[in-house]
Amino acid sequence: MKRALITGITGQDGRYLSQLLAGKGYQVFGLIRGQANPKSQLVLDENPACELIDGDLRDLSSLIAAMEQVQPDEVYNLGAISFVQLSFRQAELTAEITGLGVLRMLEAVRIVGGVTNNPIRFYQASSSEMFGKVRETPQNERTPFHPRSPYGVAKVFGHDMTVNYREAYGLHASSGILFNHESPRRGMEFYTRKVTTSLARIKLGLQEHISLGNLGFSRDWGYAGDYVEAMWMMLQQDEPDDYVIATGETHTGREFLDIASRIAGFDEWESFVSHDSRFERPAEVDLLMGDAGKAATVLGWRPKVSFEDLVRMMYEADMAAEQDQLDSGRR
Ligand code: GDP
Repeated sequence: MKRALITGITGQDGRYLSQLLAGKGYQVFGLIRGQANPKSQLVLDENPACELIDGDLRDLSSLIAAMEQVQPDEVYNLGAISFVQLSFRQAELTAEITGLGVLRMLEAVRIVGGVTNNPIRFYQASSSEMFGKVRETPQNERTPFHPRSPYGVAKVFGHDMTVNYREAYGLHASSGILFNHESPRRGMEFYTRKVTTSLARIKLGLQEHISLGNLGFSRDWGYAGDYVEAMWMMLQQDEPDDYVIATGETHTGREFLDIASRIAGFDEWESFVSHDSRFERPAEVDLLMGDAGKAATVLGWRPKVSFEDLVRMMYEADMAAEQDQLDSGRR
């Protein structure tokens, strides 16, 4: 039985990945920070065989201890402060966890993984936010980075460290440059989920307006369930490498609103969407569109869920959850 250790297991990707690996017969371990982490139960409900281990990306000794205890075949480093807007307000903490946390994980793998015959394979969750003010479109593995937020800068550090540990110590360390990926499990603070939840609530008469920031941006949005498969595929390769994971399509914030509103049964959204500058960022990423040609050729990975199906899946899940809450209140 293969053993996998996941950091960030309580996040959207951690939850999908833990279920994917359990389905493939892995024993899954999740690193959990802090006592009585409220999201632990969610992970255990979805994957009862999962074992949770104490550890903190700020504390190398805790990572070494976790690595020694689990003796993993594969490590997936998904733990991060991942909300771009927050990273502007908590820049140092973002650098500490999203950036230096990667270095500590690599050190723990190097120290503990170096003594086994079966070296630990390492996955780093890199991000399209590293491209930021993009130098070319579409972006691929050779596109230069120009991050636009403390989050993006921290991700560049983690990415470059992963490449460095591969080259310097021969670690089986791969990095997935994932473009935005969404699902009904996406955090409520992100644009897509904020829109689909709000539309469901407006439909049910629970809310009147949606306040949003800049709508002129474009993103390459895929389905998180498809993207965690790519993570696993990378670690099954003989040679570690870096891969862009994207759909190759880009859509504006307005287009997302158009499609989601139509699915929700509204003729327009202009009457209930208002602009709020609090949701704007000091520096913005205007356009992301990935070229996942290498992942298609080498890994055989392709996205399965279309943009429209993704929007529909998110809206319908939010509508069902809101309706459920409403009904349980009435009961
Ligand atoms: P990101 O691409 O990782 O920053 O993902 P987000 O979903 O947080 O943001 C996507 C885009 O939506 C960014 O360009 C934001 O500036 C824009 N945006 C506009 N209004 C909002 C809002 O109310 N919340 C969020 N999160 N983003 C917004």
